[in-house]
Amino acid sequence: MALSRTVDGRKDGAEHFVTSVFGSRYVRNNLPRYRMPEDEMPKDAAYQIIHDELLLDGNPRLNLASFVTTWMEPECDKLIMESLNKNYIDMDEYPITTELQDRCVNMIARLFHAPIGENETAVGAGCVGSSEAIMLAGLAFKRKWQHKRKAEGKPYDKPNMVTGANVQVCWEKFARYFEVELRDVKLRKDKYVLDVKEAVDMVDENTICVCAILGSTYNGEFEDVKLLNDLLEEKNAKTGWATPIHVDAASGGFVAPFLYPDLVWDFRLPWVKSINVSGHKYGLVYAGVGWVVWRRHEELPEDLVFHVNYLGADQPTFTLNFSKGASQLIAQYYQFIRLGFSGYKCIMESCQAQAKHLKDCIEGMGDFEILSKDIGVPLVAFSLKDRSGFDEYDIADSLRTYGWIVPAYTMAPDAQEVSLLRVVVREDFGMSLADRLVNDIRAVVEKLKKRPTKLVNEVADAIMKSAAHGKHHKKRKVDDTLADLIGSKPLHEVVKHASVFDEELNKKRAFRYHKKNAVAKTNGVC
Ligand SMILES: *Cc1c(COP(=O)(O)O)cnc(C)c1O
Repeated sequence: MALSRTVDGRKDGAEHFVTSVFGSRYVRNNLPRYRMPEDEMPKDAAYQIIHDELLLDGNPRLNLASFVTTWMEPECDKLIMESLNKNYIDMDEYPITTELQDRCVNMIARLFHAPIGENETAVGAGCVGSSEAIMLAGLAFKRKWQHKRKAEGKPYDKPNMVTGANVQVCWEKFARYFEVELRDVKLRKDKYVLDVKEAVDMVDENTICVCAILGSTYNGEFEDVKLLNDLLEEKNAKTGWATPIHVDAASGGFVAPFLYPDLVWDFRLPWVKSINVSGHKYGLVYAGVGWVVWRRHEELPEDLVFHVNYLGADQPTFTLNFSKGASQLIAQYYQFIRLGFSGYKCIMESCQAQAKHLKDCIEGMGDFEILSKDIGVPLVAFSLKDRSGFDEYDIADSLRTYGWIVPAYTMAPDAQEVSLLRVVVREDFGMSLADRLVNDIRAVVEKLKKRPTKLVNEVADAIMKSAAHGKHHKKRKVDDTLADLIGSKPLHEVVKHASVFDEELNKKRAFRYHKKNAVAKTNGVC
């Protein structure tokens, strides 16, 4: 009898009868991690291996750190699957996709009250997210300012822009990549958004724009764009500089028009020249779509627009990337026509009601101070009133064991001594999950209260070590470590007050965490 050779070379042909991927050598052997494997493998094995490794990722629906959409209707999922193989940039080949993008740009511009006539078309672009949208808006400001300065015969090599220190990291990227000085107005305790007056004071003739955020990433609070507009108006009239405003409405752009239609933050204000919004946040589309819209055509310098005649007709493009998937744009269009204004309004009201409920419950526990505002993006940002026993990071860590991903982070400079937790309420959260979360936060807090404090443990450890060594110089070393830990008190003081923690200590801890987690703003809060 001829034995057929099996894939792993066994002579008994056993592999042939193994129908389960889990019985095969593909799961038994390690795959090289950083080198392409020599040989191919069956598709079901490849699928299972990757699928299983991904089980260790968090559950996106329980990821309360992110504004980004984690649920869409199955009909939209279907449209996305149907268009996965379309490249957005092939505008001549996929004219309908291009048309849907243009419709979205126009809908958004009108939602933001762009001063365009019924038969005029809006200027804007679909982007990968708000980050790309912000790069494009920033480039338009920079180029426009340069043109103006050149025409006046003035130097144009030192552009700057003014923002709050609470800006999202993409603004820092823009500033660094495109060589614009970022002047940030520092926060302070109890003022966690841009101090508009200070911002206007920082503006000079080299300022390409002032950025206001509609929905600060840190606590969801809206910045006062109206006041910024009015103060800039005065300054512009006095100086003749014409400094414009950009509104970073990444999270709030699809919230404010539905929940606060009377709040004036958009193109109704004459100095607001461009706005970005993330389609994948409250635009209710999966990750991969953002929008930038300009007030009028003249705000986008023509020399930034490329006219590519590559795969057919003339394509005007203003994007950083060339190719990208078309499905997110199509999904955005689906949401706009599926939900309409009233559908978005219902969803935003539901998110708002859940955020309010969460806020009331968390406040009711008595342990927390609420740092988010009633008017703002639907989220709850909260901070421990007493951080002597445990801190926000301990709560975040413990919630993780229940499956919840709730980020802990420190405020932006100069309010870093404030650390907080943030729960973003998305469409797919719902009251029953909200109630579960409240129960779990309560359980975690109770558990942590019973635990000896971290610092007491650290102090006890150090004392033990010091006693064990018994040598003066070693003890001195311990003294120093403790002094560093506590502030500058001598050891006996520390022991006496081991469980008494003052403001200084809290600051120190916050600083330590800030250094560890937040300096580069890469702490998963997005
Ligand atoms: C999320 C966010 C960004 C970045 O947007 P992406 O769409 O993730 O690129 C920028 N600014 C603010 C205020 C944000 O909330």
